[in-house]
Amino acid sequence: MEIEYYQARSLVREQGGGKVVHLNPYQGCFHDCVYCDGKAENYHMHEDFGSRLKVKENAPELLEQYLRKKGYLPVNRKKTGTLMDLGIEPPKQPEKIIVGISGGVCDIYQPAEEQVGMARKMMQIVYDFGLPIELLTKNKLVLKDVDLLKKINENTHATVCMSIVFSRENEHLREIFEPRASTIAERFETLKILHDAGINTGIWMLPIMPWLSDSDENLESMVESAAEAGVQYILPGGMTLKPGRQKDYFMKVMKEHYPELAPKYAALYRNNSKWGEPDRAEIKLLKLNSWFPKVKRYCKGYGVALESW
Ligand code: SF4
Repeated sequence: MEIEYYQARSLVREQGGGKVVHLNPYQGCFHDCVYCDGKAENYHMHEDFGSRLKVKENAPELLEQYLRKKGYLPVNRKKTGTLMDLGIEPPKQPEKIIVGISGGVCDIYQPAEEQVGMARKMMQIVYDFGLPIELLTKNKLVLKDVDLLKKINENTHATVCMSIVFSRENEHLREIFEPRASTIAERFETLKILHDAGINTGIWMLPIMPWLSDSDENLESMVESAAEAGVQYILPGGMTLKPGRQKDYFMKVMKEHYPELAPKYAALYRNNSKWGEPDRAEIKLLKLNSWFPKVKRYCKGYGVALESW
């Protein structure tokens, strides 16, 4: 993968009235998932999103600047400890925010992280400022930072979520639709290791793909594996296909690997909704909305909490 560095002007996106902030120091994702929303034009990513990574070189500085501006202090850095040793209490910190280093558009633990190390740099700042963290990835590489995650968790709170939509038995689907992400078995093993290290874990079971990952067998097997790995919650969700680059690429791969399903997908997303939503009438007609009650039932049966949007 080609890697290039640049100086970004902004990094942090606030959500929930500023109680949660999201950031990502990368643009582009080598995992190159076929359904990836990040390819859609509205995210303003480069066209060769799956083969060229742009790194916001100044991301650590931007995060620190943002936190200081909000009134937070690096309470876990040695310098502040010295002030406290002198009997000088640091000013009261504002209410804690959760820092989400997430993979909604570009996975933070994609393979280049091994070389670039931005996730770790951002996490170190989050730890220094005494804040909780949430991560989302499809890669076992997160395990390289388990020491730091444990420190954050002991200090405040750390949650690591894995995005998984196929069961172990459907690894062949992973190979087609998530070609460079960790295998399904590796992702569940990673969740187990994190759980055993005392870190909270979740699964983002999305996008559930009609006719491919919405079967009883696939859904039950995933929930069962989640329970075995000690996962605390599952958040399921459907698939959006925005017209343009995302949909064009998805349909191309679909025609190549599942020509019999391609016309069904074309009909389901024929409305070309700006947000990529499937046609509601088609969903009803084909009874494609049954995955939620199924996941709910399996979660109840295996004792895993279910979250919904
Ligand atoms: S891991 Fe996430 S961001 Fe990366 S290509 Fe896959 S869906 Fe897109």
